[in-house]
Amino acid sequence: MANLHKEIQYIKGVGPARAKLFKRLGIATVEDLLYYSPFRYEDRGNIKPIRDLCQSGSDAYQTVQGKVMSARVIVTPRQRMKIFEATIGDGSGQITAKWFNQVFLKNVLKKDKMVVLSGHVKIDNFVYGPYMEGPEFEIIDSNEGGLIHTGRIVPIYHGTNGLSQKVIRGIMNGALDSYQLKEIIPDFLLNKYHLPGRAEAIKDIHFPPEGSDIDKLNKCDTSAHKRASFEEFLLLELGLALKKGVVTKEHGISFNVNGPVTDKLHSALPFKLTSSQQRVIDEIREDMSGPHPMNRLLQGDVGCGKTIAALTAILIAVENGYQTALMAPTEVLAEQHYRNIRTYIDQLGITSCILTSGLRARDREMVLQNILSGKVDIVIGTHALLEEGVVFKRLGLAVIDEQHKFGVLQRGALKKKGYNPDVLIMTATPIPRTLAMSVYGDLDLSVIDELPPDRIPVITEWLYGGRRKDAYFIMKDELKKGRQIYVIYPLVEESEKVDLKGATEMAERLQKAFPEYRIGLLHGRMKSEEKEEIMNSFKGNEIHVLVSTTVIEVGVDVPNATVMVVEHAERFGLSQLHQLRGRVGRGSERSRCLLLTNANISEDGRRRLSIMERSGNGFEIAEEDLLIRGPGEFFGTRQTGIPELRVANLLRDAKILEAARKEAFDIVMKDPVMEKPENRLLRDAMEIKWKNRLELGTVS
Ligand code: ADP
Ligand code: MG
Repeated sequence: MANLHKEIQYIKGVGPARAKLFKRLGIATVEDLLYYSPFRYEDRGNIKPIRDLCQSGSDAYQTVQGKVMSARVIVTPRQRMKIFEATIGDGSGQITAKWFNQVFLKNVLKKDKMVVLSGHVKIDNFVYGPYMEGPEFEIIDSNEGGLIHTGRIVPIYHGTNGLSQKVIRGIMNGALDSYQLKEIIPDFLLNKYHLPGRAEAIKDIHFPPEGSDIDKLNKCDTSAHKRASFEEFLLLELGLALKKGVVTKEHGISFNVNGPVTDKLHSALPFKLTSSQQRVIDEIREDMSGPHPMNRLLQGDVGCGKTIAALTAILIAVENGYQTALMAPTEVLAEQHYRNIRTYIDQLGITSCILTSGLRARDREMVLQNILSGKVDIVIGTHALLEEGVVFKRLGLAVIDEQHKFGVLQRGALKKKGYNPDVLIMTATPIPRTLAMSVYGDLDLSVIDELPPDRIPVITEWLYGGRRKDAYFIMKDELKKGRQIYVIYPLVEESEKVDLKGATEMAERLQKAFPEYRIGLLHGRMKSEEKEEIMNSFKGNEIHVLVSTTVIEVGVDVPNATVMVVEHAERFGLSQLHQLRGRVGRGSERSRCLLLTNANISEDGRRRLSIMERSGNGFEIAEEDLLIRGPGEFFGTRQTGIPELRVANLLRDAKILEAARKEAFDIVMKDPVMEKPENRLLRDAMEIKWKNRLELGTVS
């Protein structure tokens, strides 16, 4: 078998210089090239007699075929431009083709050559008759394998400077001929889903067979595309299935989940658990009592009450004599968890501590000592928990809050602090279920899909230009009622100073506008004590308006805050805005989210803001977000730790994904390490696909 993993440089027609350009497109090997699919197709089939061209009028896109009758180079006197002109005839008529500044064509399009031309036809009634400027062309007799640039449906690729369509197409065509794609999907699956073979499918994706439907091609809705997507998903899901298999086979801690502490906690709550919370807690208890480590993703919209589910798990671990680590993405959030959890556990005689990088050296020393000796039961912190010096005596459970802020690597690192501890991951990024499955496929999924019943939907208004005054009115009104307000400033890294200045000035302005209220300022550059002090004053209603950069983006909980004002709202992504809005509407009062922008913002920005006005549903917003940004950016490819998809599309091909997932898990169930001969090729392909993701090896 020709080596598909050969570097692109060695493919005929490439070489070192072009190899660099291909790498810009993410193409490093033969296989990368073959799976580099066109982003659209153009129909250059349907060859017209030249005589009929004038009927379709000026500018119609047409393809003709004929013989070069004559050719010449013309120099325009004034612009000193050189034009190469060729006259082509097909027996029915003649057409002139012109190319600007491409004199070398005189050596290509010589008299008597047979050519196919595709381009926009212009009509000149005096001199030329029909003519084309810079049409695509292809010489027929030099191309024994058939036409690839014209006279057919032609693939159009995303190119880059220095790699023209023609070059990519030519190299692709050569590679398809020289490298054999061996089948890797078992026959029974191909038959079951009516999928074409691998080589055929890949060839058809680049050079669709005659009679293909151009619309279907442009929607990637052909059996060739389906086959390629299925293959990608299958390899992806096989990786996940194997990973999951390994994880659950590990020997873990069987916790006794029937101790008294859960009941004690739940009866101390000032509210009744929602049925979703109850269900999720049951799922967690089931996992924890089992012989294998829990590996569960808890997903639920902002404010749905994930913390209490996590706390239940934490207390079960503690009750069984184990320590728990709770990792949050920011100090503010870690501190809030710390305070919040203490209100429940202090009376139960359970100990906790906080560990962040802002800790003074002496305090840190003591905290580390207490963790090592097993004196503290619950350790709450930021990624500072991952540092080498942090050693647990008996870590039984690791909880990670707001997973989307961490990479897969960090998940693994925390887990390694114990011996096969249970892992619970929480995320408020509401990912549609099929997508969550594919991205976090090695995790079991729990979903809290309802908000506590007392919640009143937040009113969201996008105020642009002069309507800023309205925001002041609303703020004043709410302050009079004794409510509190967040004002958020975006913090773009490159211009941190400028934005900080913006936030500071805003705080001063507000202080002048509302002299009888106290305005606080919170930003990422403050020391953690300062931050804590400010957050505490806000929680205690001593600060009434909190101006903040996005450090409060996730998780903060102050029920008396009823207004969320977002400055420069156009700079935030949809899920970020939704997160921010989730900070209000937590009490029993009607809350508002005011999105402030200038009058002049981009189309995408407008779209985001009107979605925010329209919808309060995290899942709906996530789907819109996915549509606007595409899955790569939505998930942050690097963070997901899954291989990149080249042909398949998580949104478009959700059904194919589901089928592939089912088959992959079936295969792994029957053949847990894929050692059977019929699965060998599939396994090799899977390993190569996954190898490009360095996170994988480090996870479990
Ligand atoms: P998130 O899922 O965003 O982390 P939290 O766990 O912080 O949400 O909960 C948000 C708020 O809702 C907290 O103040 C919490 O005490 C409260 N809460 C949680 N569960 C319920 C419930 N079943 N009924 C009423 N309030 C609840
Ligand atoms: Mg939370």
